[in-house]
Amino acid sequence: MSLEMWSADEAAMTEAENVADSIARSGGNALFNDRPALQERLKVIHQTFHREVFIVDPQKRIIADSANADIGEVFQHDPESDPEYAVSKTLIDGKTRKFLKRKINSKTPINLLVVDIRKDGMDDNSPIVGAMVIEYTGVRDQLMAKALAANKLISILILVFLVATFFLARALGLSILVPVRNLRLAVNDFAAGNRSARVEVTSADEIGGLTLAFNRMADALNASDTRMQENDRTLAATALQLAEMNEQLQQEIEEHKRSNEQVEYLAYYDSLTGLPNRTMFSTILTRDLNQAERHDKQLGLLFIDLDQFKHVNDTIGHKTGDELLGEVAQRLKACLRKSDSCARLGGDEFVVLITEIEQDHQLESIARKINAALAQPFPLVGYEFFVTASIGICVYPEDGRDVSSLLKNAEIAMYHAKDEGKNNFQFYSEKMNRNSLLRFALEASLRTALGNNEFSLAYQAKVATRDNHIKGVEALLRWTHPELGPIGPAEFIPLAEATGLIVPIGRWVLHTACVQHAKWCEQGFPDLVMSVNLSARQLSDRSLLDDIAAVLDETGMNPALLELEITESIVIQDMEKALIKLNAIKALGVRLAMDDFGTGYSSLSIIKQLPLDTIKIDRAFIRDMPSDIDANAITTAIIAMCSALGLSVVAEGVETREQVDFLKGLACDEIQGFYFSKPVNADAFYALLASHAFEEVAA
Ligand code: C2E
Ligand code: MG
Ligand code: MG
Repeated sequence: MSLEMWSADEAAMTEAENVADSIARSGGNALFNDRPALQERLKVIHQTFHREVFIVDPQKRIIADSANADIGEVFQHDPESDPEYAVSKTLIDGKTRKFLKRKINSKTPINLLVVDIRKDGMDDNSPIVGAMVIEYTGVRDQLMAKALAANKLISILILVFLVATFFLARALGLSILVPVRNLRLAVNDFAAGNRSARVEVTSADEIGGLTLAFNRMADALNASDTRMQENDRTLAATALQLAEMNEQLQQEIEEHKRSNEQVEYLAYYDSLTGLPNRTMFSTILTRDLNQAERHDKQLGLLFIDLDQFKHVNDTIGHKTGDELLGEVAQRLKACLRKSDSCARLGGDEFVVLITEIEQDHQLESIARKINAALAQPFPLVGYEFFVTASIGICVYPEDGRDVSSLLKNAEIAMYHAKDEGKNNFQFYSEKMNRNSLLRFALEASLRTALGNNEFSLAYQAKVATRDNHIKGVEALLRWTHPELGPIGPAEFIPLAEATGLIVPIGRWVLHTACVQHAKWCEQGFPDLVMSVNLSARQLSDRSLLDDIAAVLDETGMNPALLELEITESIVIQDMEKALIKLNAIKALGVRLAMDDFGTGYSSLSIIKQLPLDTIKIDRAFIRDMPSDIDANAITTAIIAMCSALGLSVVAEGVETREQVDFLKGLACDEIQGFYFSKPVNADAFYALLASHAFEEVAA
């Protein structure tokens, strides 16, 4: 029997049992004895439950029957279908039993249940008074049908459940497991370094949310990675920058160190010659003076200044001049012992300190040695240059006991050597000191001379050889010192040039000469050419052109009647700059003359380049004419050259009739010199002009 059938059986049996119990046990003996009531009860049961039921007494006699058929009959059991004799046994032991009974004309046996009926109903110990047999086949079948139906339903439900579970699992597999697996793979992938690992969001559920969160996390990690990489890059760049800065700093420190060393070197040494400079020399001299004092010894100081070095420098250019100074330093050192010191004080000034004086004439012989060494030609830029030096000597302790007085006195002695014709040496003496003081005093007075109206102009005529008429006049500066009286230009002009005072003084000369020229014009000499000397220092002055233009404007002077005299050194210093300036002057309509021609170093090619109108042959050539053949030849050549170049020629320093005649013979244009007139003041010159005009007219 299947489980369902067994269950139905049991259920039907339980129900029959309950019905039987309800009669047997609730009714008890009383009901049992009331047969009609019992019969009525069974009828109700039959009507209510549709059950066949009958009750037997202990002898198996039917005492009540729901079918009201077999009452009084003894229940006959069927040994085939009821081998156990269920009713009989229950009547003995009171146990409920079930059994089958065949029905007449029916193959299918009916299911019956036998339940004991006790005297006291529910009391299991009271005696058995009968048994109730109840049929439960219908109920069983019903239950069976129900059970089968329920079974089917359950099967269907199980099937549905299984199918649903399958689809659910599939759905779960698709919607959960796949995304979860994808997520897991992506996480592994990402963890393995694949920063682009992402999962497609396929649902809006928790997994979708998780996937989205993973993707965001991956993005955030990527962004943070990128930021970190950027930070790394920035860090690397910063590190590189720092390294570069560090290197730069190191370089700067090195540079600083080098420049400090350089500064220190420059502070104590002369970069041009490598010799100690003034500062260093003072230290050396102080040290040696202390030693000399301690050991009661003498010291010798030689102050060396190259003669006309400025001129040399102007001629060969500063660069070659510097080379020359370097060579001079080498030669000086070669003249000295190791114990002696040599220094460059600046420009062309050198000093030599002799520490161990053993013989009386030792300083003198060193000075001679130096002069001789410097007298040797200096081969530079393909030429041989000749340099001489003036040396001043002073001795410790006689001529000074400290650094400054020794240096000062040696310099005074040097100036004295220069005054004595250069290329020599002089020992210091007290008298020299006085002269030197005079020089310093002169410089001081020169500074106040202009303000004190101490300057004046002398005028010297320039006469045309053709007809002896005064064609022009040269303005020459004169200084009358309030105490010293007249001081010659040769003495104060170099001083004025060296101090730069020549600029304001020269401006005054130009103005005074032009004003004077205007007066003479008014007085009837309108064609007179006024010559004014211009020093190199003035040419480099920025206001020169303005000054010239202003004075022409102020006096109304015809620019063609103003002639500015320059010297060769002017153009050799810086040819390009000079050319620009001279052309600008020329552009004002002013004439230009080359003064003292022949004494400088200018070449024919330079003369050709300059915008000149006049050449003035230096007095040095005229002086020796006509007796000196060389002077004659040079003068002849210069005049021929000027004629070829279309320049007018003036001979300076003409003092004799012979010179005049000779120059006239060479067709020299103009003559200037004492022969005609010395430089005189304005009034005297006017008188000269007037008398000359008269002479000319008379002639
Ligand atoms: P310099 O321009 O060559 O002037 C001619 C110089 O020769 C003048 O000397 C003049 O007095 C002198 N002299 C003229 N004829 C004779 C003569 O027959 N025999 C002799 N022995 N000498 C004669 P000074 O006036 O002493 O001037 C000397 C130099 O001073 C001038 O030479 C010129 O270079 C310079 N100088 C004069 N005045 C000025 C000036 O205002 N400015 C500038 N920068 N230099 C000036
Ligand atoms: Mg002159
Ligand atoms: Mg001259």
